[in-house]
Amino acid sequence: MPIPVVRSEAYYLPPPREPADSYDCIPVAERVFTWLSYRTGRRLIPPVGNAEQVYFARVNQNRWIVDCACGAAQVTSPTDPRSACTQCGLGWCALVFPADPDAVETELLDLLPHLRNWWHPDDPANPNRPEPEPQPEPEPAPDPEPEEPTS
Ligand SMILES: [Zn+2]
Repeated sequence: MPIPVVRSEAYYLPPPREPADSYDCIPVAERVFTWLSYRTGRRLIPPVGNAEQVYFARVNQNRWIVDCACGAAQVTSPTDPRSACTQCGLGWCALVFPADPDAVETELLDLLPHLRNWWHPDDPANPNRPEPEPQPEPEPAPDPEPEEPTS
């Protein structure tokens, strides 16, 4: 059985001393706050408000991730397509996933996990974004007729 592409449900897990299902009551997008609070010993609370930013999710070395404008990134999941940054405190941002995330994951399974990368075709940060078709040059306007001198 191939190693699946990692979503946040499989990444942000409770510590071994807690029951394995102790994060199940936390919305998937908010688990990063609980996970990071435990690991850093800092109290991290998810923001309340929404931000107007919309981010594209991508697969990076076998993990669904979202990049924040501040430069931080976190593992994410198409099952709860929103993200709030644990580093800069930006509110909840909507995420753009492919129409069929399962199909994207399936097409990546033939690659070794560390080679599994995918970018949304509309993501401006996509390094493989197709170049727009060159548009034909418009016909130059004909030169205006020289005006006849008036006497
Ligand atoms: Zn941030």
